[in-house]
Amino acid sequence: MKFYITTAIDYVNAPPHIGHAYEKICADVIARWHRLKGEKVYFLTGTDENAQKNEQAAKEAKIETKKFVDQNSKLFEELCKKLNLSNDDFIRTTQARHTKVAQEIFKKVFDKGDIYKGNYEGYYCQGCEAFITEKELVDGKCPEHNKEPEWLKEESYFFKLSKYQDKVLKLIETNTFILPQKRRNEMISRLKSEGLKDLSVSRTNLDWGITTPIDKKHKIYVWFDALINYVSALGYPDEKPYKEFWPADCHYIGKGINWFHTIIWPAMLMSAGIPLPKTVYVHGYITLNGKKISKSLGNVIDPIFLIDKYEIDPIRYAIIRDIPHGEDGDFSEKSLINRNNNELANDLGNLLSRTLTLIEKNFNSEIPESKSELTFDIEKIDKLMQNYELDKALAEIWKFVNKCNKYINDKKPWEIKDKKELEKILYTLADSLRIISILLHPFIPETSEKINKQLNIQLGTLKDCKPNLLKKTKIKKGEHLFKKI
Ligand SMILES: [Zn+2]
Repeated sequence: MKFYITTAIDYVNAPPHIGHAYEKICADVIARWHRLKGEKVYFLTGTDENAQKNEQAAKEAKIETKKFVDQNSKLFEELCKKLNLSNDDFIRTTQARHTKVAQEIFKKVFDKGDIYKGNYEGYYCQGCEAFITEKELVDGKCPEHNKEPEWLKEESYFFKLSKYQDKVLKLIETNTFILPQKRRNEMISRLKSEGLKDLSVSRTNLDWGITTPIDKKHKIYVWFDALINYVSALGYPDEKPYKEFWPADCHYIGKGINWFHTIIWPAMLMSAGIPLPKTVYVHGYITLNGKKISKSLGNVIDPIFLIDKYEIDPIRYAIIRDIPHGEDGDFSEKSLINRNNNELANDLGNLLSRTLTLIEKNFNSEIPESKSELTFDIEKIDKLMQNYELDKALAEIWKFVNKCNKYINDKKPWEIKDKKELEKILYTLADSLRIISILLHPFIPETSEKINKQLNIQLGTLKDCKPNLLKKTKIKKGEHLFKKI
């Protein structure tokens, strides 16, 4: 089994914020979960660098555009490392491997007869990098960016999007192409009410971007180019990763770009004769301390600053617990601190240190041989993960952590004199911690490794999440897992 997951690629007109971090963390959790299942996983993220707004931001910063996108793209790559992502690749749409494929696919669609020359006139929102209809405007402004669009009129090539209306509708009506259902229904009703118009896919007034292969005066419209990253990164059409991993199993994106991924992208692929992705999962937006994150509100907290302040695992843990997956949700430092102190340091950290201290004291640091009294329902969790219910899966894992805490409090091993009984209790706890370290690995990988190190065992797979697999080993009790803040 293979599993190919992608995040959206980020505009590099500004440094990353917590919303970028959230999307990447969730995608990483999903990728790591599938690796635990023994699947061959390819996890892609990257940066969208051909957008006009990158060029504009570079002009404002008085830096040459290429240099500007190089600098900012580095910030996103650095963020991936700081978030402890397990991505297999990082694509930049200014790379030659991408430019080549974007032109190739544009040519393929043109040769198919699906691209023709015309004139475009309409409102264009720089923020969206898209033409928007008058109907979409709120008080004359783009509702997504709260900015007035500009009126553009120019020669343009058009993609015959309208030709694919019925096929795309049929596709998005299938059950699992767009998840969650709410996002699927939004697209179905929008498609039914608006219908599909042909899409302008080239611009003439730009210096920045990928030149169309059919007309040197025109640059490829940035969305048409950007979406292609999902196949260009794999080496479409001949390289091994493409043959092995395409079609994508999950495009993991935010709700603002649902239309591009579930309407335009499939139509492009249909035209080019490329197989369609299996699922587009649409997550919600994140607010910070109850407020929308935006430059004008001045609350754009650099996620790297947060990570340096709190370390990465408490952030990964709290952000997933706090936000109902697929919905909008709030992330706050206050909640992060509470969860760090109560759940991570107390529930989990104390469970490990109490267990290991007792093994050290009573069995000379050697895990005794016995039989575990606690079991765990792995199928329930796996089902939640298959349904992308990350927050519920993590809550379910935490129930098991607390089941272990209840067990230790009920059994009071520090009062037990009977050796056999004590062996059983401590074996049960150590064996359960082994299972917990596997389950938590996708969510808080560093912590999972620390637990394994202290138990002196190797990380298992999902198949190993059943009791009594722990062998007699000499533990290496170390520092407490979390510091209280
Ligand atoms: Zn906009």
